[in-house]
Amino acid sequence: MSRQEEVISLLMALRRQGISDARVLSALETVPRERFVPRSYQEQAYEDVALPIACGQTISQPFVVAYMTEKLKVGMRHRVLEVGTGSGYQAAVLSRLCRRVYSLERYRTLMVAAEELFRDLDYHNITCMLADGTKGWEAQAPFDRIVVTAAGPEVPPDLMANLSDEGGILIAPIGESSENQKLMRYTKTHGDVVEEELLPVRFVHLVHGVAREL
Ligand code: SAH
Repeated sequence: MSRQEEVISLLMALRRQGISDARVLSALETVPRERFVPRSYQEQAYEDVALPIACGQTISQPFVVAYMTEKLKVGMRHRVLEVGTGSGYQAAVLSRLCRRVYSLERYRTLMVAAEELFRDLDYHNITCMLADGTKGWEAQAPFDRIVVTAAGPEVPPDLMANLSDEGGILIAPIGESSENQKLMRYTKTHGDVVEEELLPVRFVHLVHGVAREL
């Protein structure tokens, strides 16, 4: 199969699994996932699976990226905060659909590699910072949308505080163990939070503090 055929087959698989938002599907078609996947996993770049990246982390499964992006209801005027840049793939997909993406990562190696890719691909509306994402990004808050791509036992209060009081949406995998995580969506209206359970998922852990290692 050619790359183009692989992409089309992935998009068809996502449609079959219920992804129907044309903007989201088009963003997944546009962003070359193979650039975010390590060399040794190139053949699997368009398979619907999570894959290992540097620092013991993972690039999320395309279905999960598409699903979270769809449920986030991102608009062209939105400023979006992502916690867990990782490979940069989720940030890249979001950047095609909103005004600006702010992404926090605790590993410098991952952040630097992602920034280099964004430059290479001419994705100029993504700003990264090396920081503990559980503390949010006060200087850039409030955000219209927040997506957390690593799992913790609860939504960190600083992150919830960084979410816009008027129609802000935050999506995060919540769970104590790897086997028992649920993707949750929180919607704020007039400062009140409504919570919905979306899907069982499996993400790497949200870890406090910036990594000591590279
Ligand atoms: N969105 C990424 C998924 C990467 S996996 C992608 O599309 O590839 C989750 C990432 O969250 C990892 O890179 C991990 O280092 C990062 N992470 C975990 N805890 C964090 C924290 N407290 N602050 C910032 N990043 C964190």
